[in-house]
Formats: sequence, C-alpha cells, structure tokens
Amino acid sequence: MNSHEEWAARFGTPLYVYDLDRVAVARDELFSMLPEGFELYYALKANPHPEVARATREGGSHACRAEISSSGELAAALSAGFAAEECLYTGPGKTDGELDHALGLGVRMFSVESLGDLRHIGAAAVRLGVTAQALLRINSLTASATTGMRMMGKPSQFGIDSETLPELMPELTSIAGTRVVGAHFFTMSNAKDEASLIGEMQHVIALAAELGREVGLPLEFLDIGGGFSSPYAVRGERAVYDKLRTELESSLDVHLPGWRDGTTRLACESGRYLVGDSGSLLTRVVNVKQSRGGKFVIVDAGINTLGGLSGLGRLLPASVEVDGDTSDVASLVGPLCTPGDILGRDIDLPELSGGELLTVPNAGAYGVTASLLTFLGRPAPAELVVRGEEVVSVSRLEPRRVFESSGAEPSGVAAE
Ligand SMILES: *Cc1c(COP(=O)(O)O)cnc(C)c1O
Repeated sequence: MNSHEEWAARFGTPLYVYDLDRVAVARDELFSMLPEGFELYYALKANPHPEVARATREGGSHACRAEISSSGELAAALSAGFAAEECLYTGPGKTDGELDHALGLGVRMFSVESLGDLRHIGAAAVRLGVTAQALLRINSLTASATTGMRMMGKPSQFGIDSETLPELMPELTSIAGTRVVGAHFFTMSNAKDEASLIGEMQHVIALAAELGREVGLPLEFLDIGGGFSSPYAVRGERAVYDKLRTELESSLDVHLPGWRDGTTRLACESGRYLVGDSGSLLTRVVNVKQSRGGKFVIVDAGINTLGGLSGLGRLLPASVEVDGDTSDVASLVGPLCTPGDILGRDIDLPELSGGELLTVPNAGAYGVTASLLTFLGRPAPAELVVRGEEVVSVSRLEPRRVFESSGAEPSGVAAE
C-alpha cells in the first residue's frame, strides 16, 4: 500500500493531506526570488490550519509574517505562533468589536481601505490608549500594460481611489490614534506569467514613489502585494520567477533609492504560492453511473469539501485533475443534492468502477475553508498534516449550532 492508500484507510475519506516539508520549500523558494530584506506576509485566507501556517514562519531569516482579516484568522495566526506584532490586519469591513479585540491582543498594523475605515481604527486605538500604524491601501487609477486578475482602476470596496488622495491626505494623516506609515497594494492574484507579475509590481513601486513625492504619502513601509501563481486542484508546478528579484531591485533603485539602507520597509504577500502544492485531496469513488451516453463518477468529496470560492458565484475550480494514468473520460461529481456539485465535466480519469481512491493534487490552498462546509450536512473532511511520510496530526473542523443561553430557543429543541 502506498501512503495515500494507507492514510485513506486509516483516517477515512475525503481526506486533505498537507506536507509541511513542501510548505518549507515553497517559502524558501519565494523568499529567494525576492530582493534581500523583503518581508513576506502569509495570507491565512489560503489555509488557516495552524500547523500549515506555522510552517510559513519557521524559516529563520526566511520567516513569514501573517496577513489576517478577521478575529478567527487572528486566533489562527496566534495559535500558529505568530506574534500579534507580526500581523497585518486587512479588509474593508473591520468592525469596532474586531478592532478592539485585535488591538487588545497587540495587533498594531492595519491596512486602511477608506477614510471611514481609518476613523474606526483610530477610535478603537484611542479607546485602548494605543497608536495604530496605518498602511493606506491604494486603488490606482492606472494599470500596468500586462495584467492578470485586476482589482484596481475600477470602483471597488478595496482601497482608496488614488485620485482622491491629494484631497484626503490632510485628513487621513490627522486622525487621532493612528499614524500613517505607508501604503498597501494588492492588485492581482495568480498572475498569468512572470512578465505580468513584474509589470504590475514595477507599476506599483513607481506609483507609490510618485504619491510619496506629490501628495506626501509616507513610505516607511510599502507592501507591494502579490500575485505569485500556483496550480489549483490541477496537475502542475508552482511558477518560477527568475527575473523578479533583479527587476524589483532595479525599479527600487530608480524610484526609492533609500530602500537598500532600510529607509523603506518592503513587503509582499502570498497565500496560494506558499501552501498550494503542499496539499492533496484524497477522495473515494462511491458510485459510477451511465446516463444517456454520459458517464458520471460520484466521489465522496464535493463542493462541500473542495468548494473553491463557489459561494462567491464563480464556480472554481472550473475543473480538477487527478494524479495517475488516465484512459477514460467522465464527469467527476460530488455527493450533494445539487446539480452544481461538479468537480470536473468530461475530464480525463482512470477506468473506474467504484471503491478506488483518487488524488486531487495541488489542493493545499483554498480547500476546506473555501468550501460550502455545512451545505447538506456532511461532516467536514479530515485534515492530515505530515512531514514527508511522518504523520504530524489529524483533525477536523466541526461546525455546530450553539444556542445563546439568554435567547429564545425554538420550542421542542432540547438544550444539551
Ligand atoms: C487573498 C489575498 C492574498 C492572497 O492571495 P493569493 O492569490 O492566495 O496569493 C494576499 N493579500 C490580500 C490582501 C488578499 O486579500
């Protein structure tokens, strides 16, 4: 039996397997593709499992910090061993309660999405008697020539429109409880190639420098975002960015010449690149059926297990792939009672009759927590953490209903 068969037999399916050795390799490789001294923030959104997150910060001088955007992600970051001071808190809807909680636990760095957002941060900091450091997230009016999935230039809940900065700066820099220390850009995810990634980051560096000169945007800290790409639930390898480091260095030398002396702290962010290829999803074939000339392979993992942001209305992954030789074509579907529970339509699969174990590769990011976990009442998949062949832990998220003791309970429901 290979280890996947053995683990599936021991822990059941569907089963996510995360290999911490692979997280370490991805982390070291990404750091090595960035200029010396760059900080790297791990976006816990990609996979908040505490041991996976911990592996991103274990690299000595190549240790990631944490990018978080909720109290739950903050808790996950802290339990992974990140210090509160290593966390960057982002997101357009930070509530007073979340801000009080985060500041109370020692988080000091916030990405600011609007004037209103900064006012909330300031008010919370004043309540606690501390000063919050603010990075203004910028929604640029202009774009680089080559782009991937773009979030800038359009109306958006993210970032402050760059053209409004001249008017807003005096107010943004005088809010009690806050100190604006720099800027945050996050303009694309999963860049289509190295040229788009470099083009976008160079554009961001030039724009930040221009805003520094022209509207007095402070640049003690500049987070130029990410976009590092990695395959999602299909076969393939993480992208390699051979030219990134030197291209960024020359852009920085031109636009922010003090960067080598630490005048500006520089940072990038990544979720999928750091953890995507560390994970596999093991799923077992429950039934195989024919229908009007089509073949359906029904497995025990559906969009409740690998939902890929389906809740946001874009059904990703559009199509998964499985490891191993293939000689058949069929639709791979999950067990849920919705026609939307499709992992792949007419995809290449092995010849299957029921009971076989399939492995979906590159499923370490946007897996469990990006899925419709509670839809149709199946348990969340088990998550197995390994180092190579050695088992580290196995766990499972468990959503459950908790009745508020003071609230009215529906009659007939017994409290436990
Ligand atoms: C989602 C997100 C990331 C991570 O994106 P990946 O494509 O997984 O690298 C980083 N930063 C911010 C602000 C995000 O919202």
